[in-house]
Amino acid sequence: MDRSVLGKPSSTTSSGSRVVDVLVPVALDHAYSYRVPRGTDLKPGDVVSVPLGPREVTAVVWAENANPDPRLHNRLKDVSAKLDVPPLREELRTLVDWVANYTLSARGMVLRMTLRMGEHLAPERVRLGVRLIGNPPQRMTTARRRLIEILSDGLLHGKSDAAKEAGVSAGVIDGLVDEGTLAVEPMPRALPPPAPDPTFAAPDFSPEQQSAAQILQQLAAKDAFQVALLDGVTGSGKTEVYFEAVAEAVRRGRQVLILMPEIALTGQFLDRFARRFGVRPLEWHSELTPRTRARNWASIAAGEAHVVVGARSALFLPYADLGLIVVDEEHDQAYKQDDGAHYHARDMAVVRAHIAKIPIVLASATPSVESEVNARKGRYLRVPLPSRFGGQHMPHIEAIDLRRAGPPRGRFISPPLAEAIKIAVERREQALLFLNRRGYAPLTLCRACGHRFACTICDAWLVDHRFRQRLVCHHCGFSMPRPHQCPHCAAEESLAAVGPGVERLQEEAAALFPDARTMVLSSDLITSIETMRSELNEIAEGRVDIIIGTQLVAKGHNFPRLNLVGVVDADLGLSNGDPRAAERTFQLLNQVIGRAGREQGRGVGYLQTHQPEHPVMKALVACDREAFYDTEIEQRERALYPPFGRLASLIVSAGDRPTAEGFARKLAAVAPIDERIQVLGPAEAPLAVIKGRYRFRLLVKSARGVDLSHYLREWLAAGPKTKGNLKLEVDVDPQSFL
Ligand code: ADP
Ligand code: ZN
Repeated sequence: MDRSVLGKPSSTTSSGSRVVDVLVPVALDHAYSYRVPRGTDLKPGDVVSVPLGPREVTAVVWAENANPDPRLHNRLKDVSAKLDVPPLREELRTLVDWVANYTLSARGMVLRMTLRMGEHLAPERVRLGVRLIGNPPQRMTTARRRLIEILSDGLLHGKSDAAKEAGVSAGVIDGLVDEGTLAVEPMPRALPPPAPDPTFAAPDFSPEQQSAAQILQQLAAKDAFQVALLDGVTGSGKTEVYFEAVAEAVRRGRQVLILMPEIALTGQFLDRFARRFGVRPLEWHSELTPRTRARNWASIAAGEAHVVVGARSALFLPYADLGLIVVDEEHDQAYKQDDGAHYHARDMAVVRAHIAKIPIVLASATPSVESEVNARKGRYLRVPLPSRFGGQHMPHIEAIDLRRAGPPRGRFISPPLAEAIKIAVERREQALLFLNRRGYAPLTLCRACGHRFACTICDAWLVDHRFRQRLVCHHCGFSMPRPHQCPHCAAEESLAAVGPGVERLQEEAAALFPDARTMVLSSDLITSIETMRSELNEIAEGRVDIIIGTQLVAKGHNFPRLNLVGVVDADLGLSNGDPRAAERTFQLLNQVIGRAGREQGRGVGYLQTHQPEHPVMKALVACDREAFYDTEIEQRERALYPPFGRLASLIVSAGDRPTAEGFARKLAAVAPIDERIQVLGPAEAPLAVIKGRYRFRLLVKSARGVDLSHYLREWLAAGPKTKGNLKLEVDVDPQSFL
């Protein structure tokens, strides 16, 4: 790539009479007009650098401006330079417009997601490497010894990588270079990612898997839009099966995107891909270093990257030739982005597939109600995998009625569950205790005066995190040391923990089973993807007996020796007033219990619940998925909830309560009348204050066929304008109602 043109202003060339509209990646909806310098050829999609206020920004030519206003011509600025990167294809530009229009986000904000290339525009620096060439130095220190040990293979190591690995400063390296022990050389440039080999290790499929794989392969062989719902129970081999679609797309030389709800958890997945295809896929997520990000972006845009595995933001990358999308765990809430542009990556992936006229596979053991309805109506092609691979049985599930068989006061593991864990541990199998609550206890109070510890700027209790010795707000991150004295009544050592978190469960498990090895898996205890991956490996290798985890453990891992799952509080997600509460609970519990008995033995799941007669618990215990969907679909249809009706939330927030409430009321008062649309509220949000901002919500509900985005746009254009610290967020198809 010729990078010499980058960032050079075009002041030496004279400007021509052509004008283009350029979309800049900032929170603006409209494109700006710029003059095209004479001698520069620009087409829609070209990536350019333009002056914006005092800055130069990377932006994209959106359209030719055929009739520029001649009076404005002299006031327009010139495009500074055309950048030497592949243009954004029409497919992606259409997606940006579509997503912006649908979600009511500024187009520039959506564009920004496609241009997240980090340092891309800086010419790639030459990286320096070090190599061991000479004799050990006169003076040996531990730091020097560590470094020399790492370099003892005689190969060239990245200089900063070597320093990091040895835990030494760059100065230690420089010292050894001066003494002639090490030499510095430039690193060779990175090679393009190697191609996956579709025939590397094709599996032996069961007849059921074979026919599903064949359907998906045929789907991937066509250049046509089609949504397949790969609907297979946990452990049925969905991944192996959709790999056949990936193999077909790779054979055809087209790019594949595999979306995952949480990329931090996909270490096992990358290895699995490598076992099937001989190489790892390219990763895309927020924890990539800027350099890797830039390199991956470039190789995706150049068509060198064959398969990309990424979190939701990977959907907006500029693929040169995308031929297939897979959305794994399509029902997962993590696909919804709730800051910046509010979009649902699964839904927008279907939109992208439609625009690009390519197939898309949605995979899940517990499809979203939306996808289930689409499959029932024949809009999606259902590809079923009804049984586990290798003849493994689905886990047997039992409810433990906490009203009758509850644990002793102040404890959370009931006697029947404790007995089951005891047996599992004796058999040297693993047990998982699942509780979706981080920390030690969700509430701390003073036994003397009743004072409860709350966040000062959020409407939330502080969560006791014993491990870190702090009380923490889960909404804003505020934390304080756990005091020894009540700040209210000054009583000493009077604080009591109320309710369980995973840390407290670990304490209880350790007391009940002193010989068992326990491990807590919770996002707040994990400092990096690497530690996460190594902890998961420890579990997979059987070096832990009892795992205590939040929903982090529910997703996508194979723990071969895990046969028992105990859900400590099965009712936890049911009572939060969210229209999807039942669906979420069903999915989460099904998924977490589905971790049991995947490879050997019989899996068993226990649900500790106060309401064993609840339809969700009954469906789980009876392993009757259809019953759950039937009831849920019927209720949604009756209440006109998605997918039978549409929802949008408007969230108004301000630094004080009257301002927020006043604005929300004014907004509600000017909602256009439309008999197909209901505007509910404003009501104080369930989380009434976050980070010192007071919040009010309006819920807009419409029939299915209504263009809700259009309605909202008209309404907001005519409504009051936000100013000062007032903020209005629009959330179309909301997933969170807090
Ligand atoms: P799911 O995603 O449906 O829960 P997985 O794809 O994780 O299931 O498969 C479950 C386990 O069975 C994995 O360890 C996988 O490698 C194994 N497996 C599935 N199908 C096959 C096959 N045809 N041959 C060998 N192993 C398989
Ligand atoms: Zn807070």
